[in-house]
Amino acid sequence: MRILVDRVRCQNHGQCAISAPTNFELDADGELRYRESFDDEDASDIEDAVDSCPVQAITLDSDG
Ligand code: SF4
Repeated sequence: MRILVDRVRCQNHGQCAISAPTNFELDADGELRYRESFDDEDASDIEDAVDSCPVQAITLDSDG
């Protein structure tokens, strides 16, 4: 599984970074940075991030 963020939808509000700070953060310019891969132990945080995004910009791709 890997994380995909739709950059067109994302509005850089950072709710995902609160839910799953191991994978999501806002940089000094307020732009979202994220790591696509995640460990099993972080899976529930990642699912929380998917659910917390107000514009449904985060999806999980099972190909990766
Ligand atoms: S919660 Fe959604 S809109 Fe906000 S920074 Fe994360 S991906 Fe972007």
